[in-house]
Amino acid sequence: MVSEEGAQSISEPAVVGDYVLRSKLGEGAYSTVWRSEHRATGETVALKQVRLSSLSRQIRSCLDCEISFLSSVNHPNIVRLLDVLQADGCIYLVMEFCAGGSLAAYIKVHGRVQETIARRFMQQLGAGMEVVRSHFIIHRDLKPENILLSGPEEDRVLKIADFGLSRIVLPGNSADMVCGSPLYMAPEVLLFQRYDEKVDMWSIGAILFELLHGYPPYRGQTNVQLLKNIRSSTSLPFSGLILKELHPDCIDMCSRLLCVNPARRLSFEEFYWHGFLQTKRLGI
Ligand code: ADP
Ligand code: MG
Repeated sequence: MVSEEGAQSISEPAVVGDYVLRSKLGEGAYSTVWRSEHRATGETVALKQVRLSSLSRQIRSCLDCEISFLSSVNHPNIVRLLDVLQADGCIYLVMEFCAGGSLAAYIKVHGRVQETIARRFMQQLGAGMEVVRSHFIIHRDLKPENILLSGPEEDRVLKIADFGLSRIVLPGNSADMVCGSPLYMAPEVLLFQRYDEKVDMWSIGAILFELLHGYPPYRGQTNVQLLKNIRSSTSLPFSGLILKELHPDCIDMCSRLLCVNPARRLSFEEFYWHGFLQTKRLGI
């Protein structure tokens, strides 16, 4: 799916293949994402520019995983990859443009959300993750910045994005590369232990907590302090006031996702079929 296309340098307005780069949407350690327009059709897309020279062997294999997974799926809750271009030492992932921005920006604007909205987002995250799990992929960087939104304001459609740290881990196997974002990273990753797909379940718990509170469950000046805060807490740091408003199913799901012991943490199936997510799915 990779094709050679000419590109000018990235001083605006740069052109990559048939796309004119308009403005920067985001920037990470290995990539820059540009809002871009197709020259002929005017279609708006997001162009993720990855500088190949900056990638280690491990990160390069994550990029290959990102491209091969996204090329093979077409699901409303996973960001669509439309094309892959290569030019001037960079790979460009041409993706559907998500006009609603990231879930991080959404939380910044709206603050904590109602339980019904949190449930809707979790159901959509579950629907997308079902496809991710069916490919035995662990995402490893689930966090509000990597979850995008599209559709009308009153009915946002959630899209899982940024598979740039993803890899396949077959059942019974494990990984050990320390990666992700500390505030959403499972304790076993912070502890440099081997880990499996349960790391994504911790991140989903941290995202649910943040939706309900407006801030993530644990913080720390350093990773060591963060880990200390996680391990010393005897119960989840739910705010008393918010706790009173929440349905017991919601509290149960969040607590069991944020379980320090991965063996006792909710599995994907237990999350997907949890009572908290069933209410609306079954139309009850
Ligand atoms: P990185 O590896 O640099 O973190 P991401 O894929 O997470 O790359 O993109 C970085 C940021 O760019 C996102 O947090 C989001 O704000 C924005 N972004 C990425 N893809 C899109 C898209 N398809 N539509 C709209 N904004 C996007
Ligand atoms: Mg990202």
